[in-house]
Amino acid sequence: MSLNNTRIASIRTHVLSAPLSKPFLWSFNRADKREGCIVEITDESGATGWGECFGPAKLNAAVIEAFTPHLIGKDGFAIDAIWQHLYNQFLDQGQKGLVITALSGIDIALWDLKGRRLNEPVHRLLGGPIRSEVKAYATGTYRLDEGNPLEYVIREVKGYVDEGFHAVKIKIGFDVSSDLELIRAVRSAVGPDIELMIDANHGYDALEAIRLGQAIADLDIRWFEEPVTPDNLGAYEEVRRGQPIPVAGGECDFTRWGFREILQRRAIDIIQPDTAAAGGISECKKIADMAASFGVRYLPHVWGTGIGLAAALQLIAVLPDTPPSYNPKAPILEFDRSEHPFRQAVLETPIEHGGGVVAVPSAPGLGIEINRNALDQFRIS
Ligand SMILES: [Mg+2]
Repeated sequence: MSLNNTRIASIRTHVLSAPLSKPFLWSFNRADKREGCIVEITDESGATGWGECFGPAKLNAAVIEAFTPHLIGKDGFAIDAIWQHLYNQFLDQGQKGLVITALSGIDIALWDLKGRRLNEPVHRLLGGPIRSEVKAYATGTYRLDEGNPLEYVIREVKGYVDEGFHAVKIKIGFDVSSDLELIRAVRSAVGPDIELMIDANHGYDALEAIRLGQAIADLDIRWFEEPVTPDNLGAYEEVRRGQPIPVAGGECDFTRWGFREILQRRAIDIIQPDTAAAGGISECKKIADMAASFGVRYLPHVWGTGIGLAAALQLIAVLPDTPPSYNPKAPILEFDRSEHPFRQAVLETPIEHGGGVVAVPSAPGLGIEINRNALDQFRIS
């Protein structure tokens, strides 16, 4: 017997924003606030599902407004059918970027809704779980307006180690010489047992990235993330060939078609689609299966609120081990530690780590409940 009243009745976006107590910088940008576009879909039964779009919040909300006439009255359980319809309707101008980030928020909300209606967590509907908890790495070490990064970055990284994280990703991409000095200082401060990753946020060209990667070949860096811009796969291939650190990237790439080229060209060793950007849970599962067929590791990028984090965890629960083996290398979770006033506030129960490990939420849907008071507090439109 199939469920009744699964048709979509309404779609609402919540554009949230909050100022940062201390603005922070990465290679090409300085942030003085955090934003988010939260998606709420209600079906004819009155049940609600929640999603999140990565990227500029007001622009995502505008795209979702354009999607809405295509969604009202559609069967909310037919997630793939809805995905394909929206993609096909908008693909002439929307194969990448904001159309896909907005579509991601819709897809995540529909999965949450379906899970709630069926009283099952999303990972069970996706055929899992393969795992119920995941090791997390701390993302942080953004630059501040004041102070010496050789002091405050090392203090921050040591704090993550004291909290129990086994792995930390540090921000580079400012200047090769000072970045090298910082990476060496962090490695010597934390010792050889902590996994270190570096993320340039595409702040280098291929020559700079190769120079940096060669200079720290002996520091056991797990991956070198976004060494160069995502619109230049040839430069990625050069960096991969020209220096020894595994190359990661993909937070600015989209859909199975975008990742098909990356995988075919073997331009990236570890792909990092963002579940709230690359096409949602449906598309990221397809990308993950494709990556497995190429023998390429998949580690989701995560940088939003607890809703995007929950979506990533539902997907991580079903990512295949790469490669399958007696002691498989399970995927690890990006756990953003930079200031975000409503990352956890939008959740009734925050998703926390314990000793650097995060449990996959097991309640229905994404496994989270939304705190509507927080939405009211941080909503700007
Ligand atoms: Mg990154």
